[in-house]
Amino acid sequence: MSLPRAPGIVYLVGAGPWDPGLLTLRGRALLERADTVVYDYLANPALLAYAPSANHILVGEGASRRSQDEINRLLVERGLAGEVVVRLKGGDPFVFGRGGEEAFALAAAGVAFEVVPGVTAAVACAAYAGIPVTHRAFGSTLGFVTGHERADAEGGPVDWAALARLSTIVLYMGARRLGQVCAALIGAGRAPSTPVALVRWGTRPDQRTLVTTLGEAAAAVDAAGLTPPMIVIVGEVVTLRPAVSWYERRVLHGLRIAITRSAGQAGPLAERLEELGAEVVPFPTIEFAKPADPAPLEAALRALPTYDWVIFTSANGVDFGLDALRAAGLDPRAFGAARIACIGPATARRLEERGLLADRVPPTFVAEALLETFLADGVAGRRFLLLRAEVAREVLPEQLRAAGATVDVVTTYRTCPATVSPETVERVASGGVDLVTFTASSTVRHFCERFEPSQLAALQTRTAAVCIGPVTAETALAAGFRIAVTATEFTIPGLVDALAAWRSGRGANENGSASA
Ligand code: SAH
Repeated sequence: MSLPRAPGIVYLVGAGPWDPGLLTLRGRALLERADTVVYDYLANPALLAYAPSANHILVGEGASRRSQDEINRLLVERGLAGEVVVRLKGGDPFVFGRGGEEAFALAAAGVAFEVVPGVTAAVACAAYAGIPVTHRAFGSTLGFVTGHERADAEGGPVDWAALARLSTIVLYMGARRLGQVCAALIGAGRAPSTPVALVRWGTRPDQRTLVTTLGEAAAAVDAAGLTPPMIVIVGEVVTLRPAVSWYERRVLHGLRIAITRSAGQAGPLAERLEELGAEVVPFPTIEFAKPADPAPLEAALRALPTYDWVIFTSANGVDFGLDALRAAGLDPRAFGAARIACIGPATARRLEERGLLADRVPPTFVAEALLETFLADGVAGRRFLLLRAEVAREVLPEQLRAAGATVDVVTTYRTCPATVSPETVERVASGGVDLVTFTASSTVRHFCERFEPSQLAALQTRTAAVCIGPVTAETALAAGFRIAVTATEFTIPGLVDALAAWRSGRGANENGSASA
């Protein structure tokens, strides 16, 4: 028995200026239950990830542009059809956003609606540019004005004299008429030397701020080639920016960085880089899968107590190994007295998350370091089980065997090429990223395979490599990359630290460059 379909409702939701973290909790909850999301070009499409199975309709720029009447009709139709519609609008729906028109159309058609405010661009751009818009030292009035409307627009001409008396004036849609607006403010008595800040794509990783004066703003925008969208902040509060600026000062601000880890592994690296101000371009090169033939792994797992040491070389090995253990109807007691070694701390951490403690983690995180510790113990006659990827370096098994150990190497998972959208491949190929991170030699190879040789050569002139360690760096160098950074601690945090040190000019191993 199915319930009768609930009547539709349209939520006019403010998406905030761009940074997805500035969406409200209510906005997110509504996206999660939307049947349809109708969004603008000023709303960050990354927010659609909260509504993965909804219909996504872009009503923004270019080919997808629709008139306001068409948008109103679309919202009414969907609402009447019983859908939960989120009308996702950049900034706040009612601040120069035509949310008012949409609400009127919905009310007139008898469609239920609600409004969820958003962080409006004026406030967000000021905050992210380090401009406290109502600082007490500079007065107590703040005005929002649109530069889009003609002076003779409906609702009466703009009272420039009144506006010019406000301590801080924030202009939306001001790019085209900037010269006229500035002249009008000067004509109304505001000094030509009044400081002005222009914030282009505020809260986006490539946010740019230009500081000028009322008298020079139009020429300065032309000279800098600054294009919309931008917010224009006029007033003495702009002088506070040198002290208060924070967003554009983050160590990786303005850098675009491709991450070649698998989708499942990119998270912590991407988060950290974004926190430091970088724009992350996910470029997963590989995915992980069970071994094509699961029998050898299962047999090895059933024989766990016969080994002296079980070695995990990656967090993936831990996951696939322990999943296979469970699938074989076993649990960690199956390890018996066998001891466990890990090649690095991330592997050990994953092991711990899954309820096991590593008996040995080498001081530096490469196979050689682990090998040293075993050789120091003496391994003759000892039995080792190496649970690892299908294709991996042979140092460990070869050297252990040479020292008299028995080593069973068992494929625990394999890597397959991941899918990357053609747009992302094109963006990276055309020099759209400054840096690419490589966290294993295999990521270098898989990355290069995505491009034609001529494409690869061209991108390598603009995109430098950030490598997790010397082995990976050697592979990247051999593949034709300039190496910007090689981590000295071979972990993700180590890589991030090395990158930050390099960017702030403290890097010891700097021999590349990235445009900022
Ligand atoms: N409803 C929106 C405003 C829509 S009008 C809000 O509340 O923010 C469109 C104008 O908003 C643009 O022309 C630009 O002036 C401004 N704007 C919106 N997002 C912006 C951003 N991320 N950076 C700079 N300006 C932005």
